[in-house]
Amino acid sequence: MAMYVVRPFDPWRSPLCTCPAKYVLHPYTGCGHRCLYCYASSYIRNFFNPRPKKDLRSKLARDLQLISPGSIVEVSTSSDPYTPPEESLLITREAILEILKHGYKLLITTKSTLVLRDLDLLVKYKDRVAVAITITTLDNRIASALEPGAPGVTERLKVVKLLSKSGIPTLVRVDPIVPYINDDFTGIVKLVDHVAEAGAIQITSSTYKARPDSLKRLLKAFPEISSMLLEAYKTGNKVGGYMYLRSEDRLEYMKSVRDAAARAGLAFNTCREGFPELATKGFSCDGSSLIGRYRSVVKT
Ligand code: SF4
Repeated sequence: MAMYVVRPFDPWRSPLCTCPAKYVLHPYTGCGHRCLYCYASSYIRNFFNPRPKKDLRSKLARDLQLISPGSIVEVSTSSDPYTPPEESLLITREAILEILKHGYKLLITTKSTLVLRDLDLLVKYKDRVAVAITITTLDNRIASALEPGAPGVTERLKVVKLLSKSGIPTLVRVDPIVPYINDDFTGIVKLVDHVAEAGAIQITSSTYKARPDSLKRLLKAFPEISSMLLEAYKTGNKVGGYMYLRSEDRLEYMKSVRDAAARAGLAFNTCREGFPELATKGFSCDGSSLIGRYRSVVKT
């Protein structure tokens, strides 16, 4: 039977995706955070103008009857469920309550402080919840250029702290690392240390994969590094419709983040990089393996 809004996760045919089987719900089409590196904007028209899914409540109720008990539902993979209109519309809040009330596991992926508004629900069902927060740099100037519609870095770190203090297992995505923009090693180490101090369990990282529209936005916003950025991707490889950096450069970036995570006592994984040997055993890339886990189980 066809499903309307809850769908089996589709990694857009990426051969390097290591996500476990899960379902995905996007309460919104599009996202107002307007990240320059956003991948989803290549696939969805008028992406930076978020609009709620039509008849979400009735479609979600119907779809939830079709998925197996105990399944993981991620909200969301290619638009932020706490995009600015959610502040007044509350459709994500309603959706996650439905998912949790029906006994499913919930993975939330967001950059927004608005997730804290729903802390009451997350705490009530904390054994079936994990949250992934994206923080790409500690430098507010770079973050506001890269992610102009998203909350600042300090606010996002506070979200990690409050979620962790409330017993919600939390992952931070240092993702993507864009050469010459947020790839300073000292800055990454500092970011990882702050994340560990805030109480997260895991870091997941990846390098930026270039698509024509996102690359154009980055080149325009950072003209001073544009020729180096272009050169870095010209010498890389094409994987599933994306331009990747050279494999050896990606490995070096990912090893650096892995080492910083290990020193800070955090689990680590990568996203669509093809380096399974760098992953902490038992920790999936997306954070779904954190559901029902506590910080004390992490061994690095
Ligand atoms: S938060 Fe995610 S979906 Fe929204 S613009 Fe940024 S990268 Fe795209």
